[in-house]
Amino acid sequence: MKRQRNTKIVATLGPASSDHQMIRKLHESGADVFRLNMSHGSHEEIRERHRIIREVEKELDSTIGILADLQGPKLRVGVFANDSEELAEGARFRLDLSDEPGTQDRVTLPHPEIFAVLEAGANLLVNDGKIRLKVLDCGADFAECEVIAGGTISNRKGVNVPDVVLPLAALSEKDRKDLEFVCQLGIDWLALSFVQRPEDVAEARDLAQGRAAILSKIEKPAAVKAFDEILEVSDGIMVARGDLGVELPVQAVPPIQKRLIRKCRAAAKPVIVATQMLESMIESPMPTRAEVSDVAAAIYEGTDAVMLSAESAAGQYPVEAVTTMDKVAQEVESDPTYREVIEASRNNVKGSVADGIVAAAREIAETTDIKAICCFTQSGTTALITARERPRVPIIALTPLRGTARKLALSWGVNCYMTAELERFKQAVVNAARTARSKGFATEADQIVVAAGVPFNQPGTTNILRVAPCEERLIYASDPE
Ligand code: PGA
Ligand code: MN
Repeated sequence: MKRQRNTKIVATLGPASSDHQMIRKLHESGADVFRLNMSHGSHEEIRERHRIIREVEKELDSTIGILADLQGPKLRVGVFANDSEELAEGARFRLDLSDEPGTQDRVTLPHPEIFAVLEAGANLLVNDGKIRLKVLDCGADFAECEVIAGGTISNRKGVNVPDVVLPLAALSEKDRKDLEFVCQLGIDWLALSFVQRPEDVAEARDLAQGRAAILSKIEKPAAVKAFDEILEVSDGIMVARGDLGVELPVQAVPPIQKRLIRKCRAAAKPVIVATQMLESMIESPMPTRAEVSDVAAAIYEGTDAVMLSAESAAGQYPVEAVTTMDKVAQEVESDPTYREVIEASRNNVKGSVADGIVAAAREIAETTDIKAICCFTQSGTTALITARERPRVPIIALTPLRGTARKLALSWGVNCYMTAELERFKQAVVNAARTARSKGFATEADQIVVAAGVPFNQPGTTNILRVAPCEERLIYASDPE
């Protein structure tokens, strides 16, 4: 689908968005990538959603990215005899390894490895940080806590331990099963939850074996600290503001969001800003002004993509939520201030010939009347470094690989289409001009810029930059090769 914006939209699928009609409508309204959340839904449900996405893609002759999000090593308390209990501020509460159902005084925390690293003074956050416990005393199988902030605790609520790097495997047993399942289904992106160290990413990459690009969710203080190393080994990043805002004070999240977006752009790797972007739209057809402002802020900062979670997965207005993001993106991107901010934050990375060529392509396109920057890409890298330039004119990426096109659905401004394997540069120019015309980016009277690497099919060879006419007769007349 040709979009009227550069920022991409990721929509999470769930009970509110699992049939063919709805998934098709979400894509037509603006969702470029669908997220399959492995924390919810059976393998059968996930398989069915996956099948429908690919069916819609075929029906509309479109390209849709699929991102599978692994639950990760999320800690949870056990169950309570009465299903839930009220914890009062100032009370004592004990976590232990006992099999007994929980009471007002204690509950099971079935993770012995956590007790091994807890120390007096550490904070434990339960139920999205609503309940705060401070460890007074602990041992190999218990932690005696004081309730600092009280509230309702119920069966299997999540527990965050922000102060400690946890000796947890990056992938639980469930994650490993889910990873193999989704890789066999065929996905484009694999998102890892609660990444703490670069080794966590390496572990997932070993298991994925090239079947998916790896996206690290930044939602732990440890990941913020080790961000540069994690970015280095990841293909993309999610600013996972939900858990990040539990593990860190909420006011720490916006500066981190800004910093991460900049670093990802400099590294030419896509970044998603996620969670609570249009939260009120779960129940209301209209967003709050503050939410619109939040989506706009992420776009002004230059994010590649904005994401919907429960709004599209379980809310009453999934289509309206996507449409809202689409409109906000169009409005922001047409604001001259947006261009100023984007241009002021451009990094003049010129480490390789390819970097120089895409920077030159942007400059030429912006100096004269050029309708699109076209690039040929196998792995996607040339398209990614073109996107890093954040040019004013559309980027058309052409690839013979479906997987590359789908992966690029997440990247700012990239319109990726399939092309046959090419042998000669003139063929590339002809294909680029045809695509630019047929997809409505240019007419016969227009010119495009074409960046490519010759010989084709050799990664890392981007070495030609050509300004070309869109009229075929002129291409043949002007191009000797
Ligand atoms: P989640 O991740 O929705 O899987 O928890 C996103 C976040 O924490 O923001
Ligand atoms: Mn999370």
